[in-house]
Amino acid sequence: MSTVSTRQPDGEPPDTEPPDPATATKERLFCDGCERTAPSADCWRVDRYVLCRRCQEEYVTAWAMGRRPSPGQYVRDKRFGEEESYTLSG
Ligand SMILES: [Zn+2]
Repeated sequence: MSTVSTRQPDGEPPDTEPPDPATATKERLFCDGCERTAPSADCWRVDRYVLCRRCQEEYVTAWAMGRRPSPGQYVRDKRFGEEESYTLSG
């Protein structure tokens, strides 16, 4: 008795066309800070993180207030319950 597994590759079509600039500008990225999608034009790619406009604001505000989180630290803080320390006043 033998088990023969014939695994079909998933039929994903290869990309045959270049991205359309019209849709590329509407691409949405996943923000690592707030875990939401945001228009890529608004996103800041830093290290291997993506921060949306709002998160960029929080991040630079933290720096302006004398904190010096790295982007990675900021993302971790946001995800592990420290997000209130970044809440923008007003
Ligand atoms: Zn965000």
